[in-house]
Amino acid sequence: KDISIKKTVNVYYVLGMERMVKKAMVNFRELGLEPILYRAPVSFLAGRRLYKSGYSGANANKQFEYDHEYDSALYLNSKFVSRKLEAYKAEKEALKVLLNAKSITLDGHEVELAGNIGSPKDVEGVLNNGGEGVGLFRTEFLYMDSQDFPTEEEQYVAYKAVLEGMNGKKVVVRTMDIGGDKTLPYFTFPEEMNPFLGYRGIRVCLDRKDMFRTQLRALIRASKYGKLCIMFPMIATLDEFRDAKAVFNEEKANLIAEGVEVADNIEVGMMVEIPAAAVNASNFAKEADFFSIGTNDLTQMTFGFSRDDAGKFLGAYYDKKIYENDPFAKVDQVGVGKLIEMAARLGRETRPDIKLGICGEHGGDPSSVEFCHGVGLTYVSCSPFRVPIARLAAAQAQIKNPRA
Ligand code: PEP
Ligand code: MG
Repeated sequence: KDISIKKTVNVYYVLGMERMVKKAMVNFRELGLEPILYRAPVSFLAGRRLYKSGYSGANANKQFEYDHEYDSALYLNSKFVSRKLEAYKAEKEALKVLLNAKSITLDGHEVELAGNIGSPKDVEGVLNNGGEGVGLFRTEFLYMDSQDFPTEEEQYVAYKAVLEGMNGKKVVVRTMDIGGDKTLPYFTFPEEMNPFLGYRGIRVCLDRKDMFRTQLRALIRASKYGKLCIMFPMIATLDEFRDAKAVFNEEKANLIAEGVEVADNIEVGMMVEIPAAAVNASNFAKEADFFSIGTNDLTQMTFGFSRDDAGKFLGAYYDKKIYENDPFAKVDQVGVGKLIEMAARLGRETRPDIKLGICGEHGGDPSSVEFCHGVGLTYVSCSPFRVPIARLAAAQAQIKNPRA
């Protein structure tokens, strides 16, 4: 069922697009949609077409439309919006019964549905949409919203708020994933030809362990307020994971020696978003408590095109029928999907109880949820607004293809 229209519309925009976005607000209100504006880093824009049109300027005076595929505002036309608004109202109502349902399949498998957040204030959206946890807290937003590196105390307050807000439900915090498109005004990044393939994620943390230690200390101190899991982004080699985990263990030991109370059950896992990590999953599973498949980067790296530049040729590819779907919206099952399947299978062979989830934007796409269910992932984390539809998709996947 199509449940594509919201009464409010999240409009993500990137720096430099303010004027164009403001014009579009008038159109939204005329359509009965209340726009909520978010300034976002480029990578957060699953709806890359808004970004594209902003940059080309070609569509600047036309209307915008909410697109359920992306949970964001995209340029289209008004007829489409009003038609879908009706459908949305009816179906949102129908989906209410699922809001607090447990996602247990007929044969007793539990699929956990969690939300992705960028700040403590997003916790409310996760809970209101029936999220059973936070599957990805993108902590770089704390850094991007700040004038300087946030102090240990500032970070501690934010992590504690999220853990307390989730009230004992699992919270997976990703250590800062700056670099690539996520730059900071107060930090000098090297000049790079391909920032997405450069100085970013765990590479920055292992190079600048001072910053990394500050973040880990804040997290470990906050751990007693809930169920904390920590994961590292952009892991490609085993030594990177070991090095990062060693810093975590050192800081945990330091805090204990200082007399700080810390949780003794903090899980430490990793993002599987670089093909090398998927291929080497057997070895990673010996040391990581969980894998979270980052399908945004995994798609980008597997296809060898950047998620922010693919729009330059994807349109032509659709016209020429070279591609049917946007691989950043639906998991490409024959390529990227094989890597996901491999990571899950090898991970589970090594560690049968390993937790396997997905946290890229694909987590909110029904066909991708169905695929992930098929390869045995145990949790899905997506935009909070997509949690009800992901729950429905998981249930339908189980009916179509019961998991043993
Ligand atoms: C991903 O790459 O799929 C992911 C979740 O991380 P981000 O989009 O923040 O790079
Ligand atoms: Mg990523």
